[in-house]
Amino acid sequence: MKGFDLKNELERLKQQDLYRSRRVIESPQGVKITIDGRRVLNFCSNDYLGLANHPQVISTFQQAANKYGVGSGSAHLICGHSLAHHQLEEEIAAFTGRERALLFSTGYMANIGVISALIQQGDEILEDKLNHASLLEGGLLSGATFKRYLHVNTESLQKKINHSKAAKRIIVTDGVFSMDGDFAPLTKLAKIAKQHKSALMVDDAHGFGVLGQKGGGLVEQLALTQTDVPILMGTFGKAFGTAGAFIAGSEDLIETLIQKSRAYVYTTAMPAAIASATSMSLKLLINENWRREKLQALISQFKQGAKQLGLNLMDSTSAIQPILIGDPQKAMALSQHLLELGILVTAIRPPTVAKGQARLRVTFSANHQENDVNSLLSILESVQSL
Ligand SMILES: *Cc1c(COP(=O)(O)O)cnc(C)c1O
Repeated sequence: MKGFDLKNELERLKQQDLYRSRRVIESPQGVKITIDGRRVLNFCSNDYLGLANHPQVISTFQQAANKYGVGSGSAHLICGHSLAHHQLEEEIAAFTGRERALLFSTGYMANIGVISALIQQGDEILEDKLNHASLLEGGLLSGATFKRYLHVNTESLQKKINHSKAAKRIIVTDGVFSMDGDFAPLTKLAKIAKQHKSALMVDDAHGFGVLGQKGGGLVEQLALTQTDVPILMGTFGKAFGTAGAFIAGSEDLIETLIQKSRAYVYTTAMPAAIASATSMSLKLLINENWRREKLQALISQFKQGAKQLGLNLMDSTSAIQPILIGDPQKAMALSQHLLELGILVTAIRPPTVAKGQARLRVTFSANHQENDVNSLLSILESVQSL
């Protein structure tokens, strides 16, 4: 492999404290997980509602595996689209109040698949600067003129859109931002999109299931309809505790994606048993509002405690509560120290976040107890002087 120089590049990452390695988890996902034979208290999972290891989700998955087997056998358009997939699509459409929904194998694929199916060279895409990597990737892949506006800044968006001459335009944003935990100004974005005859796409991976009375996400919380947000994306790997993703919108949008979205057409359908398990998660999260209420209570408890400790929290009211550290080496050392004390909180470093913005990213689950948050706070206090 002449010219690749992989060793040097890896060495450089190590020296800059930007080298990444994986922890091997030996237990189910949960509030307590096992690493190297040790039970640690987990504050970095996206299993916000505690459904990833829920007995009813597991048994539904097992029964569906007995009925459908494990592999789906092919892409949706060949012979991989099972009754379980079809029912989940109908349930998601009804749940989100959209005409139709379409399943994708992952959220990453949904994002690149939708954007690149809808726009191309000559069109224009406007993205929030802190959008998820998959949304940025989709924009680049599409070949459309790519513009990024300042984070949650509608004036910056207005300026860019005023100069736009493209025939087709799409504004794309995270709902809840994955590394900062703050919300996109969706009501304003919907208004701007309408004024400028632009499409609007919202990726609510971190809001779906968690926000809104029923768990319909940020669009439910803000009462935004299909007309306001014509392209809605959500994932199942976070609050739903399963895997995969969906796009919800008009009949014409979904039919267009079935015809044209390469990340939909040219890939094996998710296992049918995953779709069945996801239907059970949906039922649980609609009916068990206590999960959302408990999560909110834990978030408030943490924010209040962290404020008293003088921790540098960011402007977030969501289950994502980053503690800004700045220096990647310091963030890594803190995370390592916390782990030694039995608490798992990951350090997030560039290029996932901007330079000088390394942080500890704390996330909460409805399965945490008040005492878990107290433990986290007292251990954070003890390492604060580090
Ligand atoms: C996690 C995430 C995705 C990717 O979803 P996967 O199903 O994990 O591929 C996309 N967008 C956002 C905002 C996310 O947080």
